[in-house]
Amino acid sequence: MNATIDQIKTEALRELASAVDRDAVGEIAVRYLGRKGRVTQYLRHISQLPSEERPLAGKRANELKNFLSAEIEAATRRLQAEALKRVEEIDVSLPGRPCFSGALHPITQTTREICAIFNRLGFETVEGPQVETDYYNFEALNIPKNHPAREMQDTFYVSENVVLRTHTSPIQVRIMAQRQPPVRIIAPGKVYRCDSDLTHTPMFHQVEGLMVDRKVSFGDLKGILTTFVQQIFDPETSVRFRPSFFPFTEPSAEVDIRCVICRGNGCRVCSQTGWLEVLGSGMVHPAVFENVGYDTRAYTGFAFGMGIERIAMLKYQIDDIRRFFENDSRFLRQF
Ligand SMILES: [Zn+2]
Repeated sequence: MNATIDQIKTEALRELASAVDRDAVGEIAVRYLGRKGRVTQYLRHISQLPSEERPLAGKRANELKNFLSAEIEAATRRLQAEALKRVEEIDVSLPGRPCFSGALHPITQTTREICAIFNRLGFETVEGPQVETDYYNFEALNIPKNHPAREMQDTFYVSENVVLRTHTSPIQVRIMAQRQPPVRIIAPGKVYRCDSDLTHTPMFHQVEGLMVDRKVSFGDLKGILTTFVQQIFDPETSVRFRPSFFPFTEPSAEVDIRCVICRGNGCRVCSQTGWLEVLGSGMVHPAVFENVGYDTRAYTGFAFGMGIERIAMLKYQIDDIRRFFENDSRFLRQF
């Protein structure tokens, strides 16, 4: 019988020594001192012993019970102190792990920046539908049925008379059909064309601008667009207006800026010319005014349009337009 008491004690001490945390100690306490624990069961079993053995067995069992209670308490305190020490070992002076916050997409940022410049010049930001009728996308803008821009490889047709808009220009027609001059609007949005390579994506963003009033001249166009270009790029940026053609403006001009990469010395980006084309513009064609019922003797105006990706690529010197839409956060995080 005495051997059993010693056996229980040895096993309990061995288990306590190898306990790794307070939960393990708690389980040991239940296993030995709980209602069905080994020490408790031993105490119950004493009544079955011969009467002369009972006093000693009882005394030794109670001693073991008290001894184990003290050992369990000591082990608990020891493990608690060790856990506390581990917490204190954390170096609170180390820099924290970086947590990246969300941000606006570079195209959204550039769109807002462009609109903000024109808002300060008195232009109101407006929007229009991305699914357009043939009339607003082409017909009303003086683009006749046989115009190359209408060919299937350029335009996504939804049905014979419905297209995904190929430019933001239909917005100016919609606004003019609703309002009488003066009109000063800036219209950003997504446009769609069947095209995909280093500098083209099937969906991209444009900003369209329109100003109509009495006595609006080509000088106003030059002044407004020069101001814009110098605000979006650099106040020192040189600008040139180069004759061009658009069906809905006459006369028309491409606006070039001195190359932002080589400062005019010639490089790969500007094809060694020293100039970069940034937007198209011109005086609104009288045929467009007639389509919306404006009096062409009383009013004149100018319109302009630009690709937002193009502006962002030049501003941030990005060489592949597709980077904007690949959702690579390493790229997007830089803005
Ligand atoms: Zn250059």
